[in-house]
Amino acid sequence: MNLFEGALIEAVRRDASDIHIIPSGKTSTDFYFRIDGKLQLWFRQENTAPEAVAAVVKDRSTGVDRFERDTAQDGFAQRYIDENLIRFRISILPIVSQEYERRFESIVIRVIDDRKVITDFRKLGFQEQAEREFLKAINTSKGIVIVTGPTGSGKSTTLIAALHHVIHPGVNVLTCEDPVEYAIKGARQLKIGHKMDFEQAVRSILRHDPDIVMVGEIRDKITADTAIKLANTGHLTFSTLHTNDAPSAITRLYKMGVETFLLAYSINIIIAQRLVRKLCPYCRKPLSKEHWDAAMQMGISKEELEAGKIYEPVGCPKCNGTGYKGRINVAEALYFYPEIRAEIIKSVTEIDEENIRRIAEKHGMLSMRDSGIARMREGLTDMTEVLYVTAED
Ligand SMILES: [Zn+2]
Repeated sequence: MNLFEGALIEAVRRDASDIHIIPSGKTSTDFYFRIDGKLQLWFRQENTAPEAVAAVVKDRSTGVDRFERDTAQDGFAQRYIDENLIRFRISILPIVSQEYERRFESIVIRVIDDRKVITDFRKLGFQEQAEREFLKAINTSKGIVIVTGPTGSGKSTTLIAALHHVIHPGVNVLTCEDPVEYAIKGARQLKIGHKMDFEQAVRSILRHDPDIVMVGEIRDKITADTAIKLANTGHLTFSTLHTNDAPSAITRLYKMGVETFLLAYSINIIIAQRLVRKLCPYCRKPLSKEHWDAAMQMGISKEELEAGKIYEPVGCPKCNGTGYKGRINVAEALYFYPEIRAEIIKSVTEIDEENIRRIAEKHGMLSMRDSGIARMREGLTDMTEVLYVTAED
């Protein structure tokens, strides 16, 4: 069996989200797997030109031209692996090589494994306040539910689970995403392609008699206006944004040109989230004394540390020596209480994010950092992970 096919199988078995195939020399190519969000070298192919490795990938994918090496290409593959049909989305990009005559390409393969779709909202494992407010925000027939965070923060996993929670045969659920990754049973997923782009699809939604809508991403004024129009005309609407925290999502929409009263009355909740790696339960150990000061600066008490309830990673065969296995969310759930709405309406030239945060925290919202610290107290993750995902920009 060739290396490409072997990489597909191993990536699925090791739970990788992506495979990266990168030229690393005149006759060597590195294969990396992204596991729990981190790239790890899986294999280095020596004594073969990277161009030859790329040619094999192209030959075995559909939708790519093996003779084209100067432009971006998107391909596709599907395989039965351990009796499961797994799909792969393949992105090929030309990259600069130190030798001018060589035409190197970088290849990234996204593993699309339907078994990973979470259809039970509670299995997302949100902390108590976030789960309660989130459920309140989706158990209604109108308004917008926004999940925000950087790429790879688990936003679509959350949205898909939330959609499954509200789908039933009596409602028309329309989704508009580019690209569509997972099939959602019970939803009509609009097909974005060269005949209908994302914008056209978004514009057509309103005329297609929906009850519940998912707009993959609020990208601009047009998508924002459509989402708000849907929300204000009796549709439950789900979408995502790219912001660091929940209050700044309001600012983002405001800067896109959405009126404050529309923002205030059309949003149900904004969830900002990140994923932290979970400590391997087989090898984690109580935090070493030399790190106690740092932990106490985060608000962990000396008693908690002495009780050995705060852990650090070690590494064992069960976690491939990394000390971590799987990921869990940390989240900031900003529910739109009347006080929050009133505060937004008061805004004149800008949104007072600090004041909104203060009001929300009074109602029990955990900041992203506090959510992470709670995860440390649950023994699920460690200080390094929490500091990494909640670092101030
Ligand atoms: Zn371990």
